[in-house]
Amino acid sequence: MKKYRCEFCHEWLDEEDYLRHHQEHLKLRPDGQQNEYVTLPPDECEQASLEFHVFIIMLNAIVTLECQKRLFAAI
Ligand SMILES: [Zn+2]
Repeated sequence: MKKYRCEFCHEWLDEEDYLRHHQEHLKLRPDGQQNEYVTLPPDECEQASLEFHVFIIMLNAIVTLECQKRLFAAI
């Protein structure tokens, strides 16, 4: 079975577990703050291109935006 690596904790997960696992990371803390950020695994971080680092930053911006939208929707 294909394995996916979690962008948050870098655990390897089966396809069927991946989405559920991902959702857990995206859950808001009780105070509405996001506490998880997408990061590169240490072993890939050194080899990653500048473009890929920029991509990760963009991904975090999208995750933050999504959390803010959910926070405002809940008010
Ligand atoms: Zn994870």
